[in-house]
Amino acid sequence: MSQPPSHSSSPQLAAQLAAFEGRPAVVGGVGKDPVNEPMIRHWCEALGDSSPAYVGPDAVAPATMLQVWTMGGLSGHSSRSEAYEELLALLDDAGCTSVVATDCEQEYLRPLRPGDRVAFDSVVESVVGPKTTKLGTGYFVTTRMDVRVDGEPVGTHRFRILKYAPSRAPGASRAPETPTGRELAATRPRPVVNRDNAGFWDGVGRRQLLIQRCLECRALRFPWLPGCNACGSGDWDTVEACGDGTVFSYVVMHHPPFPAFDPPYAVGLIELVEGVRIISNVIGVPYDKVRIGMPVRLEFVRYEDGQPELPVFRGDLPGGVGG
Ligand code: ZN
Repeated sequence: MSQPPSHSSSPQLAAQLAAFEGRPAVVGGVGKDPVNEPMIRHWCEALGDSSPAYVGPDAVAPATMLQVWTMGGLSGHSSRSEAYEELLALLDDAGCTSVVATDCEQEYLRPLRPGDRVAFDSVVESVVGPKTTKLGTGYFVTTRMDVRVDGEPVGTHRFRILKYAPSRAPGASRAPETPTGRELAATRPRPVVNRDNAGFWDGVGRRQLLIQRCLECRALRFPWLPGCNACGSGDWDTVEACGDGTVFSYVVMHHPPFPAFDPPYAVGLIELVEGVRIISNVIGVPYDKVRIGMPVRLEFVRYEDGQPELPVFRGDLPGGVGG
């Protein structure tokens, strides 16, 4: 089985990959825990779902938890097939060393209840490519997991990943730390403007951060949506954010590297004083000095010629040592 590594877009590789369609990915998988009330409760609390269907003696598990009962956790499952390992190794050898989960689809045949013990098998349903995306060129690998309880089918979980060769901009990996010294060959993706958010971007063009307000129940909402998620009304106007907020949460991006961005950098979830939250960059503070609760102030920054200005938030370090 030792063929020379193929380039990520060679026809030979595509044929080799297609031969994996229909082969098993997981054989004889068994859920690590039975369907159980504590995990259901944690899930419902995390999602804010207070449906009575999920509590009490007749409780069922939320249908969308289907995949939860099959997950291997940090220690993984020993049931992954040799064929699937071979498929991933073939992609790695072709330079498709990065992976991103793109989407999943589920079908439910009957509700799961506390005490149910799930078993599952998974098959490689399709390997499609090469496709070139903003992340790089690679292959979409779709697996279909069939979940059973006592031999009876209860649902299907399709999971799609993109295994790709990262298209990193030359020189972007070790760019200088100073925000002005970067020479990134790639350009940032432009914001996607559609009929639901056009008013927001119109506001940004006037250096205003506009929040939608429901005319029926007065609830504020962000990001922009066609209707109110509190009362369902489609009537709204806007209020302008005053620009003050705090860091509600944040992550520091290290991987995967996206063209035109220069990791590591902090991505903040900013809570505006009006009460809604927005995801944006925190500037003026080193990425490793961003903290939850840090006060921030709205600014508009144009990162590249020909791109719109973007709302970002300047952090305020205690002692004022930000730069
Ligand atoms: Zn409303």
